[in-house]
Amino acid sequence: AASATTPAKTGGEGDKTGEEDDKDDKAAQSLLNKLIRSNLVNTTNQVEVLQRDPNSPLYSVKSFEELRLKPQLLQGVYAMGFNRPSKIQENALPMMLAEPPQNLIAQSQSGTGKTAAFVLAMLSHVDPNNKFPQALCVSPTYELALQTGKVIEQMGKHYSEVKLVYAIRGNKLPRGTQLQEQVVIGTPGTMLDWCLKFKFIDPKKIKVFVLDEADVMIATQGHQDQSIRIQRMLPKQCQMLLFSATFEETVWNFAQRIVPDPNIIKLKREEETLDTIKQYYVLCNSKEEKFMALCNIYGAITIAQAMIFCHTRKTAGWLAGELSREGHQVALLSGEMQVEQRAAVIDRFRDGKEKVLVTTNVCARGIDVEQVSVVINFDLPVDRDGNPDNETYLHRIGRTGRFGKRGLAINMVDSRFSMNVLNKIQDHFDKKIEKLDTDDLDEIE
Ligand code: ADP
Repeated sequence: AASATTPAKTGGEGDKTGEEDDKDDKAAQSLLNKLIRSNLVNTTNQVEVLQRDPNSPLYSVKSFEELRLKPQLLQGVYAMGFNRPSKIQENALPMMLAEPPQNLIAQSQSGTGKTAAFVLAMLSHVDPNNKFPQALCVSPTYELALQTGKVIEQMGKHYSEVKLVYAIRGNKLPRGTQLQEQVVIGTPGTMLDWCLKFKFIDPKKIKVFVLDEADVMIATQGHQDQSIRIQRMLPKQCQMLLFSATFEETVWNFAQRIVPDPNIIKLKREEETLDTIKQYYVLCNSKEEKFMALCNIYGAITIAQAMIFCHTRKTAGWLAGELSREGHQVALLSGEMQVEQRAAVIDRFRDGKEKVLVTTNVCARGIDVEQVSVVINFDLPVDRDGNPDNETYLHRIGRTGRFGKRGLAINMVDSRFSMNVLNKIQDHFDKKIEKLDTDDLDEIE
């Protein structure tokens, strides 16, 4: 397999607001999630299955043995520490491994076992005796392709006859090359070139086509077209599989163009709620006063670990500096950091090496740090136009269903404007946000 180094991602110019990072950040977010996730997310929701043929029996498996995988693959599965299929895998794996193979569109949040599932399907369907590509997987970015490639390598560790090659920029092959590897992972542009322009791959021999992270994919201009052009070169009987963490209308439309006659599997994400959260606000007049109030709160209550959200990188940097001057061990998560650096910061925080994590909104979106019981909104979440961002508020402090422990949220208000935002958030959720007097903090413990 080709190796490649990971280039730097995103520049950090000036005092961008967190929201401005958002546009090109879907892929970075997804990568971050992969880097920091070491196991399955908990979910209580039931998988929804829509079969193409509703009369055919619906199989689900509770163990990997039931799937009759090749022993080399079963060994790979156990070497990765998997004991039983995840919720989505229970249904997806029998469908993907059925004979004849079935098409599938699957949607579930990141961390539910989608990648592991399609990697297993790809490795199961290729014939190691045939020295040509039989399984293609397209990912939205170079980094995500590398990450998925790693999973293929891990899972296939005991199945060394099957080889993998990366169709990513920088991996230049001599003209006239005929690939011998059975599995190809790459980005849509290079994959299309390899099939069409350079003919390194004969698309007519492909048995499995996987399109991963469809929601991230369609956010990039051109990827949609390239993916569809690849798909059109594949034989009719080729198995088409598409995965996505979210499922907006646009994703769905795209999915239907990629995957004919699909089975559909959906797993709703766990609802977030404010029910188990005590919410407070603190009235201040300036950034400095907010900092003082924060110190008072820290002096008065025992806080295991806290996350503090700021609107801009500049405020986050300033606050982290002030807090460490006060003797706190602070971690700073900021937009100008590379994804790998961000993952390292989050890992350290999760290990308890720092007790305070200061961050801008975008950096921490979608990241679950389960043990955090205190969330401080140093700035309230607002959208680009300055309107209250209820969704982000809920996501910062909300807890999911029955896994949620009790939590504490403290909002810093420093102007009439932010008081107004707070009131609107309070009205939206219809949950009282109590005023907190930082000179008298007995009430919160
Ligand atoms: P997704 O693609 O939905 O984000 P992944 O396949 O990457 O999910 O799985 C998330 C994490 O859970 C990974 O660390 C993966 O190794 C692990 N994992 C996947 N399937 C299982 C399983 N059946 N048992 C235990 N861990 C699993």
